[in-house]
Amino acid sequence: MTTALGIVVPCYNEQEVLPETAKRLLELMSRLQNTGVITSDSAIYFVDDGSKDSTWQLIQNLAAQDIRVHGVKLSRNKGHQNALLAGLSVAKEDAVVTVDADLQDDINVIEEMVQRFSEGCEIVYGVRMSRTVDTAFKRGTAQIYYKVLESVGVEIIYNHADYRLMSQRAVRHLQEYSEVNLFLRGIIPLLGFPTGTVYYDRSARFAGESKYPLRRMLALAFDGITSFSVTPLRFIAALGLAVFLMSFAMVAWVLYGRLFMDAAIPGWASSVIPIYFLGGIQLLSIGVVGEYVAKIYMETKRRPRFSIETVV
Ligand code: UDP
Ligand code: MG
Repeated sequence: MTTALGIVVPCYNEQEVLPETAKRLLELMSRLQNTGVITSDSAIYFVDDGSKDSTWQLIQNLAAQDIRVHGVKLSRNKGHQNALLAGLSVAKEDAVVTVDADLQDDINVIEEMVQRFSEGCEIVYGVRMSRTVDTAFKRGTAQIYYKVLESVGVEIIYNHADYRLMSQRAVRHLQEYSEVNLFLRGIIPLLGFPTGTVYYDRSARFAGESKYPLRRMLALAFDGITSFSVTPLRFIAALGLAVFLMSFAMVAWVLYGRLFMDAAIPGWASSVIPIYFLGGIQLLSIGVVGEYVAKIYMETKRRPRFSIETVV
């Protein structure tokens, strides 16, 4: 069976990598087209996520040179996840693959993904076998992150980023999840459908630098937790109960000292430390609750997640 394939590539300030990325993707497409794996009207969609460099210029040139290349320009920078969604809303092919512009994910497994799709999988995850090229810091933090998500009950595919194939049907279902704070990696396992996995080695970015500094990584990490789990709120409630019970124990201790030992409990430390302790816990808890309230606030506005300026 020949599949119509769309490839969505989010690009934010990717002028260093884009020409090479386009070349490699087009070579791959030609090969798959010649071997009859994908149709001749398969296409690539480069989504310009409000880049400040010449990315859009490059995309326009590529689109002019090859009819298989399309460009989607967002009105401003909306972030990786929203750029992916914008691309998915434009790509109408039977199967759509999303892949980063820096080609850290091996594009040669796209053939295998399409293979799985024709066998009936509606979602095919690309999973990294090794991440030796990532810095020890990135590996370590990623590791901790997966563990934390798992412990609060978020279903997530280990070592899978946003490199995957989805059927047009799965994409349409995804679009019904209309939350503004979008964490695709958490939502897609919720879709269900027959799924498959392909494995690959992650390589280094061949040019340019990571657009995910620590600040953005942390933001994505918190989003992943608070969008899918209320465990932090439950934890606060449990903490409150524990402190409440502890205060009973303290009362008992004070009474025991007063009645049987004839010793007043010495004053300063026993009053000042609990003040700081409880004050700290309360502020922290309000902060966590506030995080959820903020999320409700953002979601109730129902603002559009992206605005497409131009499509070529
Ligand atoms: N990206 C984007 N919008 C952003 C940040 C990143 O579209 O605001 C794209 C970027 O161009 C790349 C992909 O998201 O194609 C992943 O970014 P990057 O490679 O910098 O992340 P890393 O691989 O370091 O996690
Ligand atoms: Mg990258």
